[in-house]
Amino acid sequence: MTPRPSVPRRAANGAVVPATLWRDWRWQLAHRLRTPEALTALLPLTPAERRALAAPSAWRMPLLLTPSTASLLATLPPSHPLRRAHLPDLREARHAPAEYPDPLGEDAHQVAPHLIHASPHTVLFLVARDCATACRYCTRAHLPPCPGCPPPDPAPAPRWIAAHPEITDVLLSGGDPLLLPDETIDALLTSLRAIPHVRLLRIGTKVPATLPMRITPALVRILRAHRPLWLSLHFTHPDELTPDTKKSLRLLLDAGLPLCSQTVLLHHVNDDEPTLRALFENLVLNGVKPYYLHYTDAAEGTAHFRASIPRGRALLRALNGTVPGYAIPLFMQDTPGGGGKHPLGP
Ligand SMILES: *Cc1c(COP(=O)(O)O)cnc(C)c1O
Repeated sequence: MTPRPSVPRRAANGAVVPATLWRDWRWQLAHRLRTPEALTALLPLTPAERRALAAPSAWRMPLLLTPSTASLLATLPPSHPLRRAHLPDLREARHAPAEYPDPLGEDAHQVAPHLIHASPHTVLFLVARDCATACRYCTRAHLPPCPGCPPPDPAPAPRWIAAHPEITDVLLSGGDPLLLPDETIDALLTSLRAIPHVRLLRIGTKVPATLPMRITPALVRILRAHRPLWLSLHFTHPDELTPDTKKSLRLLLDAGLPLCSQTVLLHHVNDDEPTLRALFENLVLNGVKPYYLHYTDAAEGTAHFRASIPRGRALLRALNGTVPGYAIPLFMQDTPGGGGKHPLGP
């Protein structure tokens, strides 16, 4: 991992932020960077980044970064691959053949509002509309993060699940479920736990990477009360494992919450052996099992991120035998149109 100089933690207007505010996740959310001007004030930008920032009509996702993510990028060199994961690129406007607005066909598998049923015993419940930081390669660009929008009505989905005893496994996603207030998360998990046939709860979240201060002792107490609950985290690059991020993982682990991670294979971001090795090894060392390496979904405007399937297989083969087996995820493709996930080897 790149050694990082410490930089002052700054708000979008350039002012140094006191530590108590910086550690407040609500302050972080309220002070997200959403305009080219805010970003320009904090980060020295490359000419290509400037051109992309000047052309919002080309963006497939809104510009949205927590001060925490922006500060991480500010400590990294301008050529750092994580910038490609979070800063707009003119190539987002290109729509390649066989790319779709809703690449997983989730709309077609919706059985109740915000509830997707695409595998026999599992449902995906999209409980939140906002994300801390927007990822340029997001699969759900047709449901972009919407800061300040009211969350979806949480009532119909648990009613549907209660009427379907074959559902034993509920995966909460969005948006990022952990951006909801503590009381809302508690109420949601309570309503799902009240359904006798629901056994496993899972939450998909990127906040340990993009808003680590969200993992507060109060939130952890709530999650702990609803075990068995697994967290499915999203990590892209080993440099996301900052001291704040590692601390958030430790809090979750100490509460008995198993952690696994999903990574999207991204061209020129993480599709090289040293990066994937450092990512997966360091996740294991921090108590996170690398679960899936996803082949980039066929979402519109993501062709510049797509590495080839043979490249993904070769990378995993190269790791085999040189890292603990725990550090090797399954390489998966989500079939365009909603055919579900299938393993791609190696
Ligand atoms: C990924 C996914 C799941 C969960 O899949 P697992 O392989 O069990 O982790 C469930 N429903 C949908 C719609 C999914 O995309």
